[in-house]
Amino acid sequence: MVRTTSKRLTCPACQVVVADAVHQRWPADLRLRAPDGTRIAPTRVSILLELARREQATAAALPDREAAAARVAFLTRHASELVYELVCPQGHLTLCTMPQLVTAVRRTPGAWVTLPYGGR
Ligand SMILES: [Zn+2]
Repeated sequence: MVRTTSKRLTCPACQVVVADAVHQRWPADLRLRAPDGTRIAPTRVSILLELARREQATAAALPDREAAAARVAFLTRHASELVYELVCPQGHLTLCTMPQLVTAVRRTPGAWVTLPYGGR
């Protein structure tokens, strides 16, 4: 019997739903869908790191440079993992590794999970 857990993932900044997550224990699988139904796939860390470094170097405002620096630090720490970049309708960007998401989905009681890590 396939056992799955479903949760709604919310933005840590504004609590708006950013995705629906379905986790299957065996065989292990995690599927994310945006509120419009499109599938959300993890992104290569190397691509996200390049974009974050570019923003860190070119952002005009200090808060934007600091947010980019925080993303660079997060991505450097998790360079060998699959990372999801989730953007809420308000434009808040959250980075989360697949293991972090699986842990949050499995351990959080109820139907809603506030994403554990803000990227911005
Ligand atoms: Zn938000």
